[in-house]
Amino acid sequence: MNDKITFIAPAPSKLSDEFYSHFLNGNFCIQKCSACGAWHHIPRQRCAHCGSFDLHWAACSGNGELFSWTETLTAPLSSLQEDVPFTVALVQLEEGPRLVSRLSNFDPPDLALGMKLRLKVQPVADEFFLPVFEPA
Ligand SMILES: [Zn+2]
Repeated sequence: MNDKITFIAPAPSKLSDEFYSHFLNGNFCIQKCSACGAWHHIPRQRCAHCGSFDLHWAACSGNGELFSWTETLTAPLSSLQEDVPFTVALVQLEEGPRLVSRLSNFDPPDLALGMKLRLKVQPVADEFFLPVFEPA
């Protein structure tokens, strides 16, 4: 499995900029509702559970489980040609939300639903980091 990650800049927005900015300080943060305590990912303006606009950024444990995955054998974009093959996972975070991420440092036959995963923050460009998960 290839661990190379070609950097493709996310569409800039206030919320995505805030999400990625926490990695600069070594933190993995997602939003949490101050009113009801629900965790959220993808970043949003309003709580999906209670409707409150009072969301704040809170540090996550970095622990999760493998909810689903797919192995990419053919580059969906020519710029990703050097990355293939790679595996994209849907990770069930310990805090509740699910996050799409690359998987790293694993043997494909070992992947299993519910497999314990651990966050690894990977630099992909100057002052830009992505959350990547590997077996715990
Ligand atoms: Zn809420």
